[in-house]
Amino acid sequence: MIPGADEYDIDVTVDPSETERLLSVMPEDVEAASELSYCRNVFVPLTTACRYTCTYCTYYDPPGSATLMSPEEIRETCREGAAAGCTEALFTFGDDPDDRYTELYDQLGSLGHGSIHEYLREACEIALEEGLLPHANPGDQTPEQMETVADLNASMGVMLETTAAVQAHGGPRAKSPGQRLATIRTAGELGVPFTTGILVGIGEDWTDRAESLLTIAAMHERYDHVQEVIVQPVVENERWAGGSPDLATMRRVTAMARAALPEEISVQVPPNLAPARDLTDCGIDDLGGVSPVTVDHINPEYEWPALQELRAVANSAGVPLTERLPVYDRFVDDGWLSPAIEGAIDADTVAGQRFRAVIERGENPTIAVNR
Ligand code: SF4
Repeated sequence: MIPGADEYDIDVTVDPSETERLLSVMPEDVEAASELSYCRNVFVPLTTACRYTCTYCTYYDPPGSATLMSPEEIRETCREGAAAGCTEALFTFGDDPDDRYTELYDQLGSLGHGSIHEYLREACEIALEEGLLPHANPGDQTPEQMETVADLNASMGVMLETTAAVQAHGGPRAKSPGQRLATIRTAGELGVPFTTGILVGIGEDWTDRAESLLTIAAMHERYDHVQEVIVQPVVENERWAGGSPDLATMRRVTAMARAALPEEISVQVPPNLAPARDLTDCGIDDLGGVSPVTVDHINPEYEWPALQELRAVANSAGVPLTERLPVYDRFVDDGWLSPAIEGAIDADTVAGQRFRAVIERGENPTIAVNR
């Protein structure tokens, strides 16, 4: 039984024979993709407050030191990102801050907002005004919270991480796999193209990995809304000394993801955390988002260092590297997007032409990159 499944009324079950079948999949059983995609994004860390304290996470700040970006900072970051050729404003978040974060709520109040989701809506409006498509990843969301912002996001996401109960989520405030699945279900019910993924090495075993992937596949089968699944290794940092999965583990679990998921779902590894060059034959077809990193790199005449790395990964696999939007093409073609997002993509502006060019040609005409 998935922890939290009862509380959140999750009725997805995985057939044990499917789990057994998936556990037998090895890298040689899957095919390499014929191209690798990526998206140009700019990080907008709206808040570092989080109700949880996952033991591997360096993102969250405790009450008193958590930050909230101001509207001016959001606009400036989005403007710089759009000028550098980004198409996505990636709103990174801690999970719904709880009432220990009094200072943050005071700050939200002084900005005229009663909740972080109300403020996220304003932030999405700013991103659209500056020529970027929002993709928000605000942790677990209730249907009401997601409805507040869904029409202003090209896509949204939350990592499932695992369906297992693991110590790394433990402590007085542990996040619940059942709640994560409820968020993924809500996205399906609201018709939001969605990104999720698994986190490898946080205490789950191989059966847990197989069940997590099959549970995502089952959710997608119901709603057809999952666009990509990230296979992310946990990495050592100042809060996590529990090690990182080795290459053989990453190769096998990546191949399992490819085998578990239907073709229309991309399998992504983040090249800054995973050995992407050694995983291209395990079925990945996406390398995630790449950012200009610092203002110094916001120069259209030079390829960003991180983009050069992605190109090197694609070259080593002998496949082309193509650009994509934060929402995958099939959702644009099949009418999933809200009028606000569709309007932004179709707008007869520089940004609109840029978005269309990425959809039609897989590259961004506003950026002259060194190839
Ligand atoms: S929910 Fe996300 S941001 Fe919060 S502590 Fe866990 S990993 Fe970090």
